[in-house]
Amino acid sequence: MTERNKNRFETNAIRTQLERSKNLEHSVPLYLTSSFVFDDAEDMRASFAEEKERNVYSRYSNPNSSEFIEKVCQMEGAEAGFAFASGMAAVFSTLAALLNSGDHILSARSIFGSTHSLFTNFFPKWNIDHTYFKVDEIASIEKLILPHTKVIYAETPTNPGVDILDLDFLGQIAKKHNLILVIDNCFASPYLQQPIKYGADLVIHSGTKLMDGQGRVLAGITVGSKALMDKVYRFSRITGPALSPFNAWVLSKSLETLAVRVDRHCENALTLAKFLETHEKVNWVRYPFLKSHPKYAVAKKQMKAGGCVVAFEVKGGIRAGQKFFDAIKLLSLSANLGDSRSIITHPASTTHSKLSVDERAETGITDGMVRVSVGLEHIDDIIADITQALA
Ligand SMILES: *Cc1c(COP(=O)(O)O)cnc(C)c1O
Repeated sequence: MTERNKNRFETNAIRTQLERSKNLEHSVPLYLTSSFVFDDAEDMRASFAEEKERNVYSRYSNPNSSEFIEKVCQMEGAEAGFAFASGMAAVFSTLAALLNSGDHILSARSIFGSTHSLFTNFFPKWNIDHTYFKVDEIASIEKLILPHTKVIYAETPTNPGVDILDLDFLGQIAKKHNLILVIDNCFASPYLQQPIKYGADLVIHSGTKLMDGQGRVLAGITVGSKALMDKVYRFSRITGPALSPFNAWVLSKSLETLAVRVDRHCENALTLAKFLETHEKVNWVRYPFLKSHPKYAVAKKQMKAGGCVVAFEVKGGIRAGQKFFDAIKLLSLSANLGDSRSIITHPASTTHSKLSVDERAETGITDGMVRVSVGLEHIDDIIADITQALA
């Protein structure tokens, strides 16, 4: 096992290898096994009693998941983690493990649609309620903390408005009030931003996005302090949301190229954002590393680069927006993000269509708003496609 954080980010992402089999393979093999064998009765007893750290059953742990978890822990500066079958399995299991009936979540309003649905339609069944704050209300969130508040929950950058929340500020508030700060760091990836540095207790990722980066697998992961992750582990080993060994193996490999991929995603996205800012058919552009972004200074403070998502508004409302989409040739009309292929989405008619107009306005979504997840194609080809579609 490599010594934790001995090397730099890129090196750890490649050189972290938990075990080699007797074959001394160079690349990590795939452990497609549901269970593991024991030497004798005493080994079996001690393993089940958790007196030794070893693999017993792949719902609890598997060498491929362990390697993926170890890499993400190193990247995020976390003590422990658990890998899930999807980002939503990570969000649900993490909060379900930590919260009891009667607890309250204080959450940013701009969160992933399914997380919003979990808070609104399902957690109330177990008497877990929530209060939302808008991104521009962050300075006054202390007033929203209730006696039974247990968790502060946020994403930054947000989806699809690419707003930025100040992690340092959230960390201070959480600490002062003894609350658990949970950050969904999916939009930034661990390469661009490490929320634990700013006081986050737990960090969640949908591995489906930038981590895999090639649109192949669904995955999720939560990392953080050993004490909290132990609770998440206890819950998850019983309820069964574990990541499959195959997907963990794919992701471990994907992480080896995370830094180079994300660098190029960000370079392409910034170039596109600057180009769109000068385009006559575009009302506004939102990208964290554009000087015009209202939270540019905060983004610069907590992120290494601006990420892969650019939001902008086409002039002429929903009609013009739809005409623009129909004219797109190269980019994929899809709802995913963080893929090597550039993806273009119309949030008002797709991912956020179930919200009312008022709710959409609260999360900063207008009818003509377009979200682009900028991929790894040549930037000139991406810009050419968007240019011809705007024309
Ligand atoms: C996609 C996404 C999720 C959910 O992840 P899945 O892997 O699709 O379950 C959670 N949070 C954010 C910010 C996401 O973009």
